Order: sequence, then structure tokens, then C-alpha cells
Amino acid sequence: MKDYHMWIGGAPCEAASGARFTSTNPYTREEWARFPRASADDVDHAVRSAHAAFTDGDWPTWTASARGAALVRLAALVTEHADRLAEIEVRDNGKLFAEMSNQARYMANWYAYYGGLADKVEGLVPPIDKPGVLNMVTYEPLGVCALITPWNSPLLLLAWKLAPALAAGNTVVIKPSEYTSASTLELMALVEEAGIPAGVVNVVTGFGDEAGMPLVTHPLVRKVAFTGGEAAGRAINEAAARDFKKVTLELGGKSPNIVFDDADLDAAVPGAISGIFAASGQTCIAGSRLLLHDGIYDAFLERLLEMTRAAKLGDPMEADTNISPVATEAQHRKILDYIEIAKAEGATCVLGGKAASPGGAPGYFVEPTIFTDVRNDMRIAQEEVFGPVLSIMPFSDEDEAVAIANDVLYGLAAGVWTNDLHRALSMSRRLQAGTIWVNTYRSTSYTTPFGGYKLSGLGRENGSQAIMEYLQPKSVWLAEPRAVANPFIRR
Ligand code: NAD
Repeated sequence: MKDYHMWIGGAPCEAASGARFTSTNPYTREEWARFPRASADDVDHAVRSAHAAFTDGDWPTWTASARGAALVRLAALVTEHADRLAEIEVRDNGKLFAEMSNQARYMANWYAYYGGLADKVEGLVPPIDKPGVLNMVTYEPLGVCALITPWNSPLLLLAWKLAPALAAGNTVVIKPSEYTSASTLELMALVEEAGIPAGVVNVVTGFGDEAGMPLVTHPLVRKVAFTGGEAAGRAINEAAARDFKKVTLELGGKSPNIVFDDADLDAAVPGAISGIFAASGQTCIAGSRLLLHDGIYDAFLERLLEMTRAAKLGDPMEADTNISPVATEAQHRKILDYIEIAKAEGATCVLGGKAASPGGAPGYFVEPTIFTDVRNDMRIAQEEVFGPVLSIMPFSDEDEAVAIANDVLYGLAAGVWTNDLHRALSMSRRLQAGTIWVNTYRSTSYTTPFGGYKLSGLGRENGSQAIMEYLQPKSVWLAEPRAVANPFIRR
């Protein structure tokens, strides 16, 4: 059992109460690490430390170039330690080592990209409509930012927030998921090694209600960046609104993956699989509703079943494993419940549908599961399962595909498989989602915005504009002294 400490003011720290909680390896079901269980007192300590680092000390004196250089150093350190960080994440969330190590290396790009961007945020000198006045617009950091992350990709989703927050000159308090706190705490040694001053980055560990909400509502926190579920997102948005805090929310999805009869099925079949069975379906962008054109329905389904049956369930650390356990016992139960709900609603389970135990492994495995005879008004077609469960629906033309695809509360992403350029363009325009993939699926990049329409979120992460989510404009007026004609009339 490994004991971790929180990270506050550049030093390891216990919870004031001395309480701890544990993390369980989803593959072995064994507890492997203990973490301090933070309460409002610990959150207050961390926020005050972040606030002190924002107002005093070295950090506010750093130029944007110096902040950028530190982030570029952090990028190099993350790359150097990628496999170690990935292995820790696998122990916490059970995802494939192959995916997590790839992700850890790719994540370094966020620190390098926003490091490069730090000194390229240029202000404005608007041509002001008053004589003898120079007006300058500068962009200033917000202050202390609360960064709250989920368990499915802890470090990657943290990088989407931490890199622009620091590039912009803010200080932060991070609250990682109670299921996956270890990798974020390990990252703190690299933050320190990169030369980022003590107190600029702080981590509290604990639960949503005990640590997350006190962080959101702390009066010294000026911005909340959150990735997680809709329920927590709504609670956070409501609480932050009371004190007019800025918020970015990356929430769930029920994304359609739409295959037309002119698509290249050699690409589309693996595309459908990567949409729902990669990461055991535990991604916000899961293509959990597969819409198949009537003309290819039977042929596609046959190939999909064949390829999915060949997927190997097993140890996430083994290179030839395709599907690993889901992250938590609660998630395991929730997915199996949704499978029963789908059956009760009248959907037909054509593959999977049960818990699994490959080679007798005790982990939280769920068989890759495929439902046909799904209607779009069923719960299995409307609600986020966050597991390896696919709902298939037929369609006969573009209008019907668009109608089904858009008829959900979410709008995070959508996939379209077609070789018709006009159709690709018109579908991209008509689908209500923040990301549209044509002839690919599940791609994200630091260079392009990511976020949701409708209940999938608020604001955008990634891309050059995302740094503006961590800045506020200030308008500065420099006037030549002049006699004031009438002080009671606005100039
Ligand atoms: P969750 O909402 O349960 O928890 C996310 C984080 O919020 C955790 O750190 C948790 O402790 C904290 N939290 C929970 N309740 C809180 C509250 N009331 N106040 C403050 N903090 C609170 O989500 P999860 O189960 O960890 O993650 C899965 C969800 O995340 C899925 O719904 C998925 O779609 C979503 N997700 C979205 C994206 C995206 O970018 N859109 C990416 C990954 C995951």
C-alpha cells in the first residue's frame, strides 16, 4: 500500500482531520494506495496558498516568456516520465497501458503548445473615438482557478486546463477524481522540477461533496474548469453562478456515429469499434449510437460482430489486450444495469450483455455489448452509459440520419462515414455537436477547440482561443491633460 500526500504551497501535506481514503486497482480489485481525505479546511489552506502565490512572491513578476519556458520544461519532463505516469494511471483506472502511455506522451504537447502561446497573447490599441486619448487593452489572469478532473483520463484532461491556466499567469488548486488521484500527485514533482514556484500549483485529494464543492464556492476562487458528469457539472455551474465565477464545463455525450452506404467499410468498421469499445467505452466522446444506412446494415453488422468477437479482454498491462476492466465497482454495476434496462425496453442483445472474467481475472470486466432493434427514444439511446455498450439504429436517408442524430440532449461529438464530399459538408453543417469527425473517430488535438453543444458543456478547451478562458481584458485610458468643459456630462 502506497501512501500519498496532498501538495499545498510546494510541500506534501496531510488532511487536517488526518482522514484518508483508498484507491482500488480495477483489474485486481486490490486496494493499492491511500490519500488524504480533504475537507473544507484543507481546501481553504490550498486556495490561500494559491492566492498568496498569485498576489505575492515570484510568480506575478515572471514575464509571459518565463512562464512559457517553464511549461516547455514541464513538457520535456512529462515525456521523460510518460511510461511511469501511465503505469500509475492504469493501476487507478484500469485502462490499457498501451493507450495511457501513448496519451501521456501526447499530453506533453499541451504544455509545449501553451508554453509557446504564453508570450503571444497580444493586447489591442483600439482606434478610440476621443481626441487626445490612447486606449490599450491588456489581458490579465483571473487569479486562483479550480481545476476538477474525472477518472477516465486524469492527466490528459488536467493538461487541457493546467497548461492554458499557467500560460495565462493564474495559480491553481486541482481536485482530481477520488478514484484516480495518484498520477496528479506524481506530476507535482515534475512541476517543481520545471521550476514553477511553490504555491502556483496545489492539489487537494478527496470527494466531490467534501472537497470539490468547497473549492468551487471558495470566495478566493475566480474560475472553475471542470470535466465530469452532467449532475456534478450542473451543481458546479449553479454554485459558481452565485458569485459570478467564470466556468468551463466538459460534460457527457451520446454521440452518433453515422455510416452511409458509400462509406469505405474497411475504415468504418474499425471506426465504429474505436468509437465504443476503445477504453471500454469510458470516454465522453464514445460513439455509443451507431446509425447504419439500410443499404449496408446487414453487411456492416456482420463485420462489426466478427471484429468485436475477436477483441481480447484481459490484463491492461499486456500489449495484446484490447479491452480492459471498467474503472470502478459502481461503474461496473451501472453498465450492467443499463444492459438490463435496454433488454426490458425491447432492444435485442446480439453480442455480450454480461460481466466477464477473462482467465479468471477478478476485475470489473463487461463484455463488449451490441444492441439492435433500438429506438431513439429508449433510455439506452438517450442516456450516457459510459461503458462498452453500443446501440444500433437504421436510417434510410440523410434527413432521417440528422433527425435521429440531433434528437438527444447532448452534443459533444458526431462521426460521419462517407466518400461523398457534398454529403460530408452538409452533414458537418447540420449535426449539432462541438466536434464532427468525417471518416475518422475519437481524434482530439491541442490545436483545435473541444467542447459541447447543449448539455455537453460550456466553453471550449484546446486551441489558441482556449487561453482566453483564463484571461480577462482590461481597458486602460491614457489621456492628454485637458480642461474639462462640463464635469457632469460623460466624455
Ligand atoms: P463526476 O462528475 O462524478 O466527477 C468528476 C469530478 O468532479 C471528480 O473529481 C469528482 O470528485 C468531482 N465532483 C463530483 N461532484 C462534485 C460536486 N458536487 N462539486 C464539485 N466537484 C464534484 O464524473 P466522473 O464519473 O469522474 O467522470 C465521468 C464523466 O465525465 C462522464 O459523464 C463523462 O462523459 C465525463 N467526461 C467528459 C469529458 C469531456 O471532455 N466532455 C471527458 C471525460 C469525461
